[in-house]
Amino acid sequence: MRYINKFGKSNHYNHWQRDKVDMEASRDFVYQKFCEYYRDPLTIIPAPILIGQREFGYLLFKERFMIRHKRFEGISSLRSMLNQTVPSDVYHSCAYYENPDFDMDKKGWLGADLVFDIDADHIPTSCNKIHDEFTCSKCGFTGRGITPEICPACEATKFETKTWPCELCIKSAREETVKLTDMLENDFGFSLDELHVFFSGHRGYHVHVENEAVRSLNAMARKEIVDYVTGLGLTILDKDAKEKRGKRATKKFNLHNFGWDKRLKVGMQNFLLNTTPEDLKDIGLTNNALLKNKEVIIKRCINDGRWDSIKGVSVQTWLKLAEHVKDLQSSKIDTVVTTDTHRLIRMNGTLHGKTGLKKVEFPAKNLQVFDPFTRAVAFKKGEVKVLVSDAPEFKLGGETLGPYKNETKELPVAAAVMLICKGRAKVAN
Ligand SMILES: [Zn+2]
Ligand SMILES: [Zn+2]
Repeated sequence: MRYINKFGKSNHYNHWQRDKVDMEASRDFVYQKFCEYYRDPLTIIPAPILIGQREFGYLLFKERFMIRHKRFEGISSLRSMLNQTVPSDVYHSCAYYENPDFDMDKKGWLGADLVFDIDADHIPTSCNKIHDEFTCSKCGFTGRGITPEICPACEATKFETKTWPCELCIKSAREETVKLTDMLENDFGFSLDELHVFFSGHRGYHVHVENEAVRSLNAMARKEIVDYVTGLGLTILDKDAKEKRGKRATKKFNLHNFGWDKRLKVGMQNFLLNTTPEDLKDIGLTNNALLKNKEVIIKRCINDGRWDSIKGVSVQTWLKLAEHVKDLQSSKIDTVVTTDTHRLIRMNGTLHGKTGLKKVEFPAKNLQVFDPFTRAVAFKKGEVKVLVSDAPEFKLGGETLGPYKNETKELPVAAAVMLICKGRAKVAN
């Protein structure tokens, strides 16, 4: 939309100013929709348990900074804040405090929920190279796919990111969540009812364990749980495997195995049953003996519980295979969230400022069937005309929309809000 002035030169100042006005109008539109949501008496915002012992924080729409160390005695005082302030994002602590509104060192930590965050931002998917982009805020280096922790060009750690809550990404996050809840249920012994599972409102899921048994766990104990879930430090081979040439080197896996032993064994069986020479090549194995003896190996894995003593299959090959199976069986959680006992986490029932979708709770057993693109939609009425710069095909509120490229479209409000929040559209005049 370059503006040419009467001297025939493009007028950058006006172009910039026009863009700014457009952006403000779009942000106002989103703000108005958030107002309608929070001010609607029919909007359900469930109260977190022990609300008065939690710290609350929220991000302001216009000023873009975070207000922290807030305390609410009950859901009605919290709702009146939402009603008046209308933040873009709302969080509360996983922790319980004597004085949640005091400075950090004076709060008096009483305990914290055990919280897990599974986000497509941390999972390598085949599609994130297509729809995700990052730009280093310092030097402008850009790339596609997962945002690195440090800039490869200048080592800065701040990036502008452009992501998309695509169906495939959410599906991979869901698979990681299924593995996590399976571990929490079968290896840790929580009942499914004790696990609170949420769609995050963006590209992932949260799992909260709010049970008294976990409340007093310190950061070290939580790190142990994280290591278990991610399979960090798991012993796969006998530690002296290299010296034991010719002798049996792998662990023995029994039928009554439990926890990771069982996960590795079943995972190995499933992998071998379905693997192709290409899959093996992908993990750096070109060993024909593996595929040739597939039946024998699977039988031995399950009945005999031994992975070695197969002619032509070395200890190193087993190790590579087992590492790969471990990777498939582990859950790719954001490890920092679980170990931080002062973490603020998005509040259930509030809107996500990057999408306009709600954080929603649903029963753990419904993970496979819960559809965030219908159930997390907050704005169900109306249409609005927007200029979309670019968007892939997507589903929202039961409709399939896009792809769009530099076009003006009349879209359902929920879709328009999401595109504006993602920096891919602005309200058309
Ligand atoms: Zn850089
Ligand atoms: Zn994707």
